[in-house]
Parts: sequence; C-alpha cells; structure tokens
Amino acid sequence: MKILQDKVAIVTGAGSGIGRSVALTYAQEGAKVVVSDMDEDSGRHTVRLITNQGGEGFFVKCDVSSPQDNEALVWATIDKYGALHIACNNAGIGGAMAPTGMYPVEAWDKVIAVNLSGVFYGVRYQIPAMLNSGGGAIVNMASILGSVGFANSPAYVAAKHGLVGLTKNIALEYGQKGIRANAVGPAFIKTPLLKDLDEQTMQWLVGRHPIGRMGEPEEVAELVLWLSSPKASFVTGAYYPVDGGYLAQ
Ligand code: NAP
Repeated sequence: MKILQDKVAIVTGAGSGIGRSVALTYAQEGAKVVVSDMDEDSGRHTVRLITNQGGEGFFVKCDVSSPQDNEALVWATIDKYGALHIACNNAGIGGAMAPTGMYPVEAWDKVIAVNLSGVFYGVRYQIPAMLNSGGGAIVNMASILGSVGFANSPAYVAAKHGLVGLTKNIALEYGQKGIRANAVGPAFIKTPLLKDLDEQTMQWLVGRHPIGRMGEPEEVAELVLWLSSPKASFVTGAYYPVDGGYLAQ
C-alpha cells in the first residue's frame, strides 16, 4: 500500500517549484491533493500533471495572505473529500533585497504577510479540520534562513525564523491531539524563485553549499513526504534542514 493512501492533503503555492513537486509526490503516494496557488494557470497545470500520472487532485485558488482565502480553501477541501489530514504550507516569496536600515516598509509588510502571516492563517483553519478528521501532519516550508541570517533579506529571514517558532508552538499545543507539525529548511533550490539572480550571484550561491551544487525541488519533496507520513510518527516540533551541508559551516 502507498504511504499516503486515501489521505487528503493541501499544498499551498503548488503551481511552481517545490510546492508542485510536493503535490506530485503526495499524489504518487496515494493522497488526494488539493492544489492551491494564487496563480490559476500554473495551479491547474499541476493538477493536470497529477491526473496524467494517475493521481487525484483539484485546484483551489488561494492567496495565502488572505485569511478568508485560507478558510475557503479548507472548506473546499472538506466539501470535496470530507476530511483533511496533511497540509504543506509552502507558498512564499523572496521579497526585496536591501539592508535593514533601508528596507522598504511596504516590502517588509508584504513578505511578512505572505511568508509568516500566510502560514498562520493556513494552520488557523487547517487545525480544526484536522482535529475533526482524527489528526494530521503539518509541514511548514521554512528555509535555512529560518536558523541563520542572510544580509539584505531581513524580512525573509525574520519571517522564516518566525515560522520555525510557530511550528514549535503547534507541536506543543496539539501533540496529544494527534497533530504533528514540523518545519523544513531548504538551502538554495533550483526554482523560479531564484529567476532574478544574475549568473555571478548564482555561482557564488552554489559555492556556499559544501555538496557543490544547489538542490532540486524533488529532494525537498522527499523530506516533506517523510514528515507528512506515518513513518515520522514520533517526529514533531522539529526543524529539518535539507541543505547540501549549508548549515554545517
Ligand atoms: P516558486 O517556484 O516561486 O513557487 C512559489 C509558488 O507560490 C508560486 O507558484 C507563486 O505564485 C506562489 N505564491 C506566491 N505568493 C503567493 C501567495 N500570496 N499565495 C499563494 N501562492 C503564492 O518558489 P519555490 O522556490 O518553490 O518556493 C517555495 C517555498 O520554498 C517558499 O516558501 C520559499 O520561501 C521556500 N524556499 C525556497 C528556496 C529556494 O531556493 N527556491 C529555499 C528555501 C526555501 P507566483 O509564481 O504567481 O508568484
């Protein structure tokens, strides 16, 4: 039997990069996947990829920075599949780059709204649905920058550190009620999120990874799959880097 057989999973930001890979991996392992993204075309394309590989899923448009969208996403999931067991809160943006003393206030507000508040709004509605479904597993997409700084990205770093803290709190509050919550910390992964970086910066970033390259979305999805599955039944409140050794130095 597949390890997520008959489980119902939400993935946010599933129209691209890591989120798409997580959605495809969940579906390969038997989950019914609610693919959500702000971008309708890319989200619907992920659903097509899932059905092409024999899996099941449907699309719900959701801007994670909207509490109402997050609530509607959970309701749409319950309406369609009757339960919610897994949520990968993955949607995120890179945001502007500037030193803290010059960081544009609007850029700060936007990154915090999507990368931190967006995850709170998600779990705020996912948790009651999981309790009604007999328990569940939450995997929040942090970053290596959930545990170390990165000059000129104060909002992203603060949001990802906050996300790791939020994840620990969920674990404390719901461990005995059947919900596990963990955070994942990818280093630099080859996705459209990095599309604006020039070649020189990309090469510099590659050099920061002891393994000698950036990661692939599928390498993150493997860890997310494990944390989402019963194989990780004693793992909660943890922060797992998947980083080619980045944090070892
Ligand atoms: P990506 O390829 O840009 O995918 C992110 C997806 O989220 C896109 O489809 C994007 O839509 C969507 N999105 C953006 N804002 C949203 C919102 N407000 N509501 C709903 N969806 C939204 O990025 P990725 O690299 O896969 O990143 C996924 C997660 O991994 C993020 O949380 C990121 O911080 C984290 N991460 C990435 C890396 C990396 O190096 N790639 C490293 C560490 C952590 P649009 O395309 O329309 O914007």
